[in-house]
Amino acid sequence: MTKENLSPRVSDLVAGGFSYLEQEILACRKCGLHETVKNKVISKGSENPKVVFIGEAPGKNEDETGVPFCGRAGKLLDQFIAYMGLKEEDWAVINTLKCRPPANRLPTKKEIEICRPFLETQLELMKPKVIILLGNTAEKAYGESLEWGEAKQKEDGTFVVKIFHPAALIYQRSREPEQYAFLDKYRYLWE
Ligand code: URA
Repeated sequence: MTKENLSPRVSDLVAGGFSYLEQEILACRKCGLHETVKNKVISKGSENPKVVFIGEAPGKNEDETGVPFCGRAGKLLDQFIAYMGLKEEDWAVINTLKCRPPANRLPTKKEIEICRPFLETQLELMKPKVIILLGNTAEKAYGESLEWGEAKQKEDGTFVVKIFHPAALIYQRSREPEQYAFLDKYRYLWE
């Protein structure tokens, strides 16, 4: 994801700001997912955050409420945010897809591509210092190849870090200490 060469679609969305972006997401019919959703899920948190977390796609709870990470995985993410010492104005949470895939299946490559201008626009408008990729789908969508717990600095100074998706940790509690070690390692980036 390069900020220097924004596509005409992303430039257009960025120029319209958050409210235009929201309108465009709500109106989007570019893939089949809109047919089965109850609510599109756009973001939660600050519009001017230091840290942005990127998840995969809305699940059942998110589809019902329109709020990202409001279920079990969200509770765990809240614990990470508290552990990181982030204040309310310091963070935002967004997803790779804005629509829930039926039965929580993995997003397809095509769906990720179609939804990507919305993700790029969110990042461009929010301008975080640190982008935290929650798992493999976010990594794919962002277009960066990272190991678990690896960080890279981009040319514009932004750091991108890949950590475990909280939903994965619900099923693999034994890996939680690693996740907290990643957060400790990069604490200096947001403090
Ligand atoms: N998992 C995600 O990736 N995103 C959500 O919003 C909820 C669960």
